[in-house]
Amino acid sequence: MHRDTLAVHAGHQVDKDTNSRCVPLYQTSAFTFDSPEHASSLFKLETPGNIYTRLMNPTTDVLEKRLSAMDGALCGVAVASGQAAITMAVMNITQVGQNLVSSPAIYGGTSNLFHNTVKRMGIDIHWADMNDLATIEAGIDENTRLIYCETIGNPKNEVPDFEKIAEIAHRHGIPFVVDNTCAPSGCNPFLYGADIVVYSMTKYIGGHGTSMGGMILDSGKFDWTGKKYGTVGKFPEFTEPDPSYHGMIFYDHFGGDSQKDENGNVLNPCFNARIRTCLLRDMGPCLSPFNSWLFIQGVETLSLRWKRICETSLKLAQWLEQNPYVTWVNYPGLPSHPSHANAVKYLDGFGGIIGFGIQGGIESGKRFLQNVKLLSHVTNIGDSHSLVAHPASTTHQQLSEEELAACGITHDFIRIAVGLEDADDLIADLEQALKASV
Ligand code: PLP
Repeated sequence: MHRDTLAVHAGHQVDKDTNSRCVPLYQTSAFTFDSPEHASSLFKLETPGNIYTRLMNPTTDVLEKRLSAMDGALCGVAVASGQAAITMAVMNITQVGQNLVSSPAIYGGTSNLFHNTVKRMGIDIHWADMNDLATIEAGIDENTRLIYCETIGNPKNEVPDFEKIAEIAHRHGIPFVVDNTCAPSGCNPFLYGADIVVYSMTKYIGGHGTSMGGMILDSGKFDWTGKKYGTVGKFPEFTEPDPSYHGMIFYDHFGGDSQKDENGNVLNPCFNARIRTCLLRDMGPCLSPFNSWLFIQGVETLSLRWKRICETSLKLAQWLEQNPYVTWVNYPGLPSHPSHANAVKYLDGFGGIIGFGIQGGIESGKRFLQNVKLLSHVTNIGDSHSLVAHPASTTHQQLSEEELAACGITHDFIRIAVGLEDADDLIADLEQALKASV
């Protein structure tokens, strides 16, 4: 079925107990067992079923299945926030002494996570310019475990050449992990070679600025045994006995080579299975069922909101580019953007984030933040309300001057996250605020 139909139906069947048309909210921490044998079998992962909401929940299950179906992933695991999704995806396959290759032009919170917390865990970050493939190759060594980037890098709006990066990753036998938060309806990175896609559902998927959540989607196609890439033994997490499950081997337990797609490619869900049964079990950043339920409402209208946000954003970006008080505009839908060609190739709609510089630099910028009336001064994106922020003093404040430059954030950078208001009303607000600030 088409994506818009899946957005409303996938993962849910009306249950015969209640006949509830909409997905019920199972606001419960735990689930009853049929017998002691049943309980033991669930804990041994022999029988699938509900145990405890830290690991799984029927409302969250619908959300996981729905987003998986929409993006053509094999499976999904929902977690408490976008940051938790990124952290879990990285921790699942890296350990002390290893490293990952990442774009520096990523969300400030992820940049902090990589620069500090992940480093303190003994995992190194090799920064690479996703537009300069040689720097990616140079960053990969025998201890590299993944390549990481964002679809529309927040806030520089860089769109990488997915197919080329995926080819490099797979040539080295490592997965390509993409944060698709800023293009959940506009791009499907799995079509271009991504193996794992992470989302902050807090943004466009929720769509109303009400709830925190994250999702990890697994294509199931990456060969964790390394046979396909000539890198056998690279990911012992999946191919060697796991001491916390009495020596179970994740790859074998979750089907080995037995499940195949229509083209005969092996599918194995062990990446997400391990996140759920080890990392969520041990660290606990699970998603509240109520938030899952709210995200399900968001998913059902995602494509309508995305289309509207992209149309309004292009209109605003074009208007800003003509405005005498504006020194530069950064929007991938404009031919002036360095990623415009990749944006045309990979995106359906150029997203809802616009960066621009204001005449008079940071001082005018500060006045602008005070003078907007309809836009709200908030460090969030993907809300139904339009938001405006100054990344250098907020989301990216902890970065050094050098790191800010690598992210493409200048001190006069003002970021608009476009919402659902009428474009002409937003333009009127921007116009009065620019006039009053410069
Ligand atoms: N990824 C991107 C691209 C983001 O913009 C954000 C937050 O702004 C996150 C991840 C983190 O998501 P959360 O705030 O849900 O933890």
